[in-house]
Amino acid sequence: GQGRHWEVKKVKTVCPYCGTGCSFYLVVKDERVIGVQSCPDAPVNGRWLCIKGRFGFGFIHHRDRLKMPLIRDPFLFAKVTWPTSLKLVARRLTEIKEKYGPDAIGVLASARITNEEAYLLNKFARAVLGTNNIDHCARLCHAPTLVALREAFGSGAATNQLAEIAEADFILVIGSNTTETHPVAAIQIQKALRRGAVLAVIDPRRTEIASRAHYHLQLRPGTDIALLNAIAHVCLQENLWNQEFVIYRTENFAAFREAAMQYPPSLAAAITGVPEELIIEVARHYARAKNAVIIYTMGITQHTCGTNNVYAIANLALLCGHVGRRGSGVLPLRGQNNVQGACDMGALPDYLPGYQAVTDPSVRAKFAAAWGVEIPDHPGLTATEMFEAAAEGRIKALYIVGENPMVTKADTSLVKKALENLEFLVVQDIFLTETARFAHVVLPAASFAEKDGTFTNTERRIQRVRRAINPVGEAKPDWEIVTLLAREMGHPWNYSSPAAIMEEIAQLTPIYGGVSYERLEAEPEGIFWPCPHPEHPGTPILHQENFTRGKGRFHPVHFAPPDEQPDKDYPFLLITGRYLTHYHSGTMTRRTPLGFYQETLLEMNPEDMAELGIKPRDRVLISSRHGSMKIDTTPNSNLPRGVVFATFHDADNPINLLVGHRCDPRAKTPAFKGVAVRIEKAVR
Ligand code: SF4
Repeated sequence: GQGRHWEVKKVKTVCPYCGTGCSFYLVVKDERVIGVQSCPDAPVNGRWLCIKGRFGFGFIHHRDRLKMPLIRDPFLFAKVTWPTSLKLVARRLTEIKEKYGPDAIGVLASARITNEEAYLLNKFARAVLGTNNIDHCARLCHAPTLVALREAFGSGAATNQLAEIAEADFILVIGSNTTETHPVAAIQIQKALRRGAVLAVIDPRRTEIASRAHYHLQLRPGTDIALLNAIAHVCLQENLWNQEFVIYRTENFAAFREAAMQYPPSLAAAITGVPEELIIEVARHYARAKNAVIIYTMGITQHTCGTNNVYAIANLALLCGHVGRRGSGVLPLRGQNNVQGACDMGALPDYLPGYQAVTDPSVRAKFAAAWGVEIPDHPGLTATEMFEAAAEGRIKALYIVGENPMVTKADTSLVKKALENLEFLVVQDIFLTETARFAHVVLPAASFAEKDGTFTNTERRIQRVRRAINPVGEAKPDWEIVTLLAREMGHPWNYSSPAAIMEEIAQLTPIYGGVSYERLEAEPEGIFWPCPHPEHPGTPILHQENFTRGKGRFHPVHFAPPDEQPDKDYPFLLITGRYLTHYHSGTMTRRTPLGFYQETLLEMNPEDMAELGIKPRDRVLISSRHGSMKIDTTPNSNLPRGVVFATFHDADNPINLLVGHRCDPRAKTPAFKGVAVRIEKAVR
């Protein structure tokens, strides 16, 4: 029962979990969220919601919610008032800035907070602290997309709307278990299949979505470039490529052609383990389809060659002209509810809001005039580099908002060393996370249900988030906390509401230039950026006449064997990923009934288990070159031999201990997919 209808109110808002951006009603009775109801006019999802959106709200009123600021004193946390905590944070950050310079401080923003809050954190880092050291967890996922799609197309974001997937005749899913990680987005794939579309899935695991596909290309981990180049090779060889598109709309084709022609399907079959005929058939389907989309996620980006993997995808779309049209495009599905928005809002070390480079003097001059301070001219450190710098003592203070790197980052022993090394750590979150336990000051933030703002989903759709209840205890929305802190540090910030912050964003960020709260109320389907002025309708499909950068650019890329290969000491390859019912470090889902589903187990091919004498539920010691841990096993015949899988949801036993600090050289995204490991039977 959800209460009598006259006792409850319903507030329309956006899901706090994945980047699909479903909206729903929060049902509220007596200042408590008692349920979630679908709203039929939800623009992305209609009545559909996945299990997380529908049942994952229990964390809002969980007893573990932080309700007061905490100060470490010296071993235990003591509850203090807001003025006391803010004064301390302001004093310590000022002292560290004066002693070591502004670049000794770093800010980790969040993909969970609103656009307005991410914008203020970007301003806080650059204008108040005076450093470009700001980043967030996009570094761990789609940073290669930002680099490569930006250089290939001019915009590092999804080219089309999710609903257009249903209009495609051919869908290529690469390194995405869409039905588990973006369940409602995956409904569009089902719709296309019902219309008769053909689905091909490239994945080393026979995932749920792979089991529904017409073609499953079960490649060896880390061999995507050889496979994608071979698909291009077939298109070129059989003259299936879109010559008109390539001639009029692209550049650098000759160099790409030369590279792709070095990958005949026979060679790719030897490298990837995918049969030659499968490669040829998939190439023919992709090239001949009237409309075709490529959907990809972390299976592409979380490699040392993540950026090159994305180039290879963009090359294929350019070659066949499958971009810039309704129903044809490239869709990197963003993982978190507002990871797109956090990137848009400049929670990045090299870009001010709207992907305006900090190295561009005219951009800096514009922001300096608006903010009344000089903007530092050199790009800051990425999240990956900040932790290395902190471990080496070059970063002295971190301000971490809504992220839990102790569980989610690669090389968690380095993260621990970094956090222990800091002179000052502030963590702002809704729970005392594994990371917050290291903090000197913990600031209690409001959850999504307790604030107004906007999120931008994976389609670039900007949608309103609405306050349903007052913040629990003395928690405050992140935008209020950052504003108070800036004022405490002598900056006269004076934002009365998220709407007022959006006015400033619109003035300084051309792609959000036409966005306002009035419009978002009047246009409940949301606004797609780029939307440069108030009369502009927004841009659901990118690159239609021209690419954002003018012409689409080919980038020749070559396959190189992953540097971490199985050998006799570490004979298995570990892939990390997610389950349907859990979310990232589990901070939220572990505090809902969903937490009881799907415990973290090491999935292994049953034949591998038999060979090692391991039975289901046996405990094993799994070791990589970077760390080791104990974990229970379960057989999964959908994994090829030699490949093992585990999720990173278990905060008490984080699998990322095993992942080293190898990362993509451009994007600095760690190689979570493909860690060489050894597995031995262990005693319980
Ligand atoms: Fe929320 Fe994503 Fe599920 Fe939609 S698909 S309800 S946005 S978790």
